[in-house]
Amino acid sequence: MPDKLTDLIAELALANRILAHEGVLDAFGHVSVRHPTDPGRYLLSRARSPLLIEPDDILEYTLDSAPVKPPKVHLYAERVIHGCIYQARDDVMAICHHHAPAVMPFCIAGKPIDPVFHLGATMGEHVPFWDQYDEFGDTNLLVVKPEEGQSLARALGNHSVVLMNRHGATVVGSGLKELVSRSIFICQNAEYQLRALALGSATPLHRGEIKLAGTISLMPNVVTRTWEYWSMRLQASGAMPPRRPAKSHRKSRKTRRGR
Ligand code: MN
Repeated sequence: MPDKLTDLIAELALANRILAHEGVLDAFGHVSVRHPTDPGRYLLSRARSPLLIEPDDILEYTLDSAPVKPPKVHLYAERVIHGCIYQARDDVMAICHHHAPAVMPFCIAGKPIDPVFHLGATMGEHVPFWDQYDEFGDTNLLVVKPEEGQSLARALGNHSVVLMNRHGATVVGSGLKELVSRSIFICQNAEYQLRALALGSATPLHRGEIKLAGTISLMPNVVTRTWEYWSMRLQASGAMPPRRPAKSHRKSRKTRRGR
């Protein structure tokens, strides 16, 4: 019988590596997914660069962002981003926080990212901003306190992505495949928008187009197709995560030797 949790943990490790390989995540940034059977928990890696994450790194957290089993490893300082958004949004099943080079000029200039091509419509009509300084004054710009995470979740509102001034972006989705597609398409959109501006203008899609193109671009068959494509690119680079948690692998080898 397939184990939902084991499958989702494997998928989360893969999502981390895809987003790192496609330039959304670098040494920093993180991806989480809501627990498949307990909506009051979420899954997130221990503090590690996303391209290196394997199923064995994935830990379970309560929505207060406390680890269910206190581990001896370092945790992401910014995990409250995930817990606070899951608390605020029942519909959100996966979250990615990143500092992608494609979006940083917009976060720094405070200029909105608008959907300028059909796949960019997956960001929705409006992308709000959140400036940590407005409410919290001088900080190290990391979102670490519950009140900071809650403030970010309020700024996100019902939108699909929030830009964080001088910091990065946080993207949400109704599942990991949708989240990965949306995160990558927003970065592509930001790059195209900037390049089009250099040519003179970057005209956004019309409101009706955003709705229609955004919906079709996130259909299950579409996000499965893009997931396969990005997985194949990752595989070609030789960076696929191990299929099974390393611990169980070690155990099974030991058992074999013992026989
Ligand atoms: Mn960050």
